[in-house]
Amino acid sequence: MTESNIVLHQGREKSIFRRHPWIFSGGIARVDGNPKGGDIVAVRAENGVFLARGYWNSRSQIQVRVLSFDDVEINKEWWKAMIVRAIEARKHLTTNAYRVINAENDFLAGLIVDKYGDWLVLQALTLHVDKNKRELAEWLMEITGARGVFERSDADVRGKEGLKPSIGVLVGEAPLKHIIIDEGVKFAVDVYKGHKTGMYLDQRENRQLLGRLLEQEPNLTEILNVFSYSGGFGLHALKHPHTHVVNIDSSADALELGRDNLRVNRFNDGRADFVQADVFDELRHRARRNEQVDVVVLDPPKFAHTQGQVDKAAKGYKDINLNGFKLVKKGGYMLTFSCSGAISPDLFQKIVFGAMEDSGRDAQVVRTLGAGDDHPVALSFPEGAYLKGLMLRVY
Ligand code: SAH
Repeated sequence: MTESNIVLHQGREKSIFRRHPWIFSGGIARVDGNPKGGDIVAVRAENGVFLARGYWNSRSQIQVRVLSFDDVEINKEWWKAMIVRAIEARKHLTTNAYRVINAENDFLAGLIVDKYGDWLVLQALTLHVDKNKRELAEWLMEITGARGVFERSDADVRGKEGLKPSIGVLVGEAPLKHIIIDEGVKFAVDVYKGHKTGMYLDQRENRQLLGRLLEQEPNLTEILNVFSYSGGFGLHALKHPHTHVVNIDSSADALELGRDNLRVNRFNDGRADFVQADVFDELRHRARRNEQVDVVVLDPPKFAHTQGQVDKAAKGYKDINLNGFKLVKKGGYMLTFSCSGAISPDLFQKIVFGAMEDSGRDAQVVRTLGAGDDHPVALSFPEGAYLKGLMLRVY
């Protein structure tokens, strides 16, 4: 089978020289050959010079995703070497739940692999990865000795590749109903139904940071954990015996997970409350009642899914941050996040500043925050830096 050549318009090889892994239809002058969706193709300049090798999908706006900028064969050995490289980069991690492969950011476009204890959870975001997922899962088992590889390919972005959701065991044993993972506190993770591949692994280091802050400043005892999901930030707070946590989420299932996690950690001693409410209303009511807490954590879902939603999202972020500021005691802290890729760190900081101004409060940035180091961002792929946050001291 001969490899097809994707020939770029003159000048469009620039993004390849910058090692950006995406080639859009507009950059392509012609296709030599008849590649099927998911096939490996060579990317060439007008004059025939080799630029990169990647995979093809005519149904996607991103028609080629580059796997290698070197003229090498993409075969089993290549994949295994890349998988091993990603694993090696994480061998310092002490937790048993982390992202093992972060797609484009680990130079493996379209492939997410997360580890939860003895299982791996794979997310195939593109057609090529989807077609090869069973083989990939077998190699992952071989390399890691995992008990099984479970697929959670139900991310919306698959639609853009012409793919439907796909969930189930790829190879090995089916995961336990609840896998107990430990990041300093324990979580009972349901990889069948939990958010993303089971939980929000990207926030681990920020949850741990809250734990350390409360250890260093034992006067901080009242914590409002807003958009709490399975209670993660709150669990790190509850490690310290004098703390009290209010978890707020609109989802009854999420709050139930939070209660389960209290039991798993034996934190079910009455120091945590669970409030099912819409955050926008709930924060406004609490601010009106002049409630004051020591720490507010704001970790909303993605408000802007596209560039077109940025303005509306900005209003949402401003609203919750405004009430967040009002709720923090002088000398307290706010940890505030956005996981919208379309909102830049700079814009996020401006929105939070606007909220501070309107709240009549003062604040310092103690730290700028991002995803943990198991979620590296390829320097050539700024799209990879979706999670941003600020740790603020509020006066
Ligand atoms: N901080 C969590 C992750 C939060 S994910 C962690 O560390 O694991 C975002 C959560 O916000 C989800 O659980 C979702 O149910 C909840 N949510 C989304 N919109 C909401 C709203 N308007 N009001 C309350 N909760 C909301």
